Amino acid sequence: MAKDPISSPPDSPESRRYNRIRRWLGITDFVVGFVFLIVLLATRWSDSLRDLAYRIGFQNYSLSLFVYIVLLLGISKLLGLSLDYYGFRLERRFKLSNQKFASWAWDEGKGFLVGLVMGTVVTELLYFTIRQWPQYWWILAWALFMGLFILLAQLAPVVLFPIFYKFEPLENEDLRRRLVLLSEHAGTRVRGVYRWKLSEKSKKANAALTGLGNTRRIILADTLLDNYTPEEIEAVLAHELGHHVHKHILKSIFVQAAITFIGFWAANFALHYAVDHHIFEELSDFANLPLLALVSVVLSFLLMPALNAYSRFNERQADRYAFESIASIDPFISSMNKLAEQNLAERTPSKWVEWFFHSHPAISRRLAAAETWSRTQHPTPQI
Ligand SMILES: [Zn+2]
Repeated sequence: MAKDPISSPPDSPESRRYNRIRRWLGITDFVVGFVFLIVLLATRWSDSLRDLAYRIGFQNYSLSLFVYIVLLLGISKLLGLSLDYYGFRLERRFKLSNQKFASWAWDEGKGFLVGLVMGTVVTELLYFTIRQWPQYWWILAWALFMGLFILLAQLAPVVLFPIFYKFEPLENEDLRRRLVLLSEHAGTRVRGVYRWKLSEKSKKANAALTGLGNTRRIILADTLLDNYTPEEIEAVLAHELGHHVHKHILKSIFVQAAITFIGFWAANFALHYAVDHHIFEELSDFANLPLLALVSVVLSFLLMPALNAYSRFNERQADRYAFESIASIDPFISSMNKLAEQNLAERTPSKWVEWFFHSHPAISRRLAAAETWSRTQHPTPQI
């Protein structure tokens, strides 16, 4: 299946170690969250939190639900805090970041508040639909949820990301000209390219296509813009444009819609089961929120390999688009090599690690694909 990683040197022990620790960090974080939900339900701790929330929330349903969400997210944040801190230290230890503690703590605080606002909106809507339409709540909740999801996809580049990072329109005339040429070649238009000030938080390089409609834009990290040649940046731009041309964001929204539909159906099933078995008195008892979260966590876990495979398919498509759009494949190859080194990425992760965890194909595979493509385009002349 895999081609030999032709131009990839083996991974350094440092990169192996870094990626192994990060994986274990992710797994531990997942397990802690999972066990927390199970404990909340099994020990009836969730019921006590609900009763406490009602006392603080003046017995008012919506207010008490809000208090309950604050309690739940607060405890869960405290449980995960040491892991978050370890993750912060890890980036510094491997010289991938020089972010200061105060800046990290500030980001944590902001992240918690953003999560609280979004969690509150979603949960209040969820229980509103359960109370109003107990029979068909899940279909309605799904439609509302998707509406919010699309709104967020559109607003994220202008509202959400700027909470954590600074962005400014790309000033570089040469790069802008290259993008216009690429876009004309594609018969499409991306509304903007932004310089993403990632260097304040990380030494890693990154780029992405974000937004919907009039917020659609390509963001390029300053850590990339300042260290890569114009041809290499053009190769990265071409890849991001590939995502745009192949409508990957829109397709992902459809995939998300299908998965969420199954998720809400399963959540409804679980809630009815719990009420039928007198685990909860009624559907609208918000002490059952951990059960809903559990359904979502289990579903995400089960679907992760499939979603990552789908993402890798999209990445290969964007890569192929880049190969076809740039004059030479060499800058694509050198940009990949630079990225691997700068981000301490594993070029050749083990097969199961790639299968389960990676949203992007391994760099060795991307390089091999580039070289294969180049050979088929420019066969060695036969004399
Ligand atoms: Zn991509």
